[in-house]
Amino acid sequence: MVSVIKNLQAVLNEIEISCKNRQVEKNSPVILVAVTKNHGVEMAQQAIDAGITDIGENRIQEAAGKFKSLDREVTRHLIGHLQTNKAKQAVRLFDLIHSVDSENVAEAIDKAAFSIGKIQDVLIQVNLAKEDSKSGVYEENLQTLINFVDTLKNIRLRGFMLIAPNYSDVENCRPLFRRMYEIFCEVKKTRRNFDFLSMGMTHDYKIAVEEGANVVRIGTAIFGERNYNLS
Ligand SMILES: *Cc1c(COP(=O)(O)O)cnc(C)c1O
Repeated sequence: MVSVIKNLQAVLNEIEISCKNRQVEKNSPVILVAVTKNHGVEMAQQAIDAGITDIGENRIQEAAGKFKSLDREVTRHLIGHLQTNKAKQAVRLFDLIHSVDSENVAEAIDKAAFSIGKIQDVLIQVNLAKEDSKSGVYEENLQTLINFVDTLKNIRLRGFMLIAPNYSDVENCRPLFRRMYEIFCEVKKTRRNFDFLSMGMTHDYKIAVEEGANVVRIGTAIFGERNYNLS
């Protein structure tokens, strides 16, 4: 049996240590997004009972079912790639969409948000390592996408999201996190309401926090291995 409470305490403890170790963002808190994908609603509920306020899911269908069954209001994060034809459901379900990586996706979210009278908070996902297997805009196209997003009235850009490569030596992630933080700070200088840097998952969150992340997305370290038989 996985003890969600115990795991959660261990993760919070590690985050606190990494915060103490860091040279940047000295006094800013880190938001822990508990990633419940491929776990049942009872796991999500356990995390919420233990004090979790932010839940992350990567698929619309799975999220819709789960969110309905939760007994408390939580902040809901879409961390997976969004297909434009699901934008309507996404804006109804999620408080923050981490995965804007193209003009098409941004436009679809904007339209959907307009249709329900919402201003949708989003992050742009950046693919710094240029991995083919991952979504995210390349660094050299980032400013163009930001400019485009700024023309849309029903989405509000709140920051960036990065998924680091799954290096066997996790220290190899550090330069990427550092570079992402640099870009984040540079862009932040000229904007308001631009405050989230979402990077770090189970294998690399300690380093991500040390390098300035203020949102981490953690599944396995809290809930154990995912159950891929769950629909
Ligand atoms: C699944 C997922 C996570 C959580 O991964 P763990 O390794 O289980 O912590 C974080 N971010 C994204 C984008 C994911 O898809």
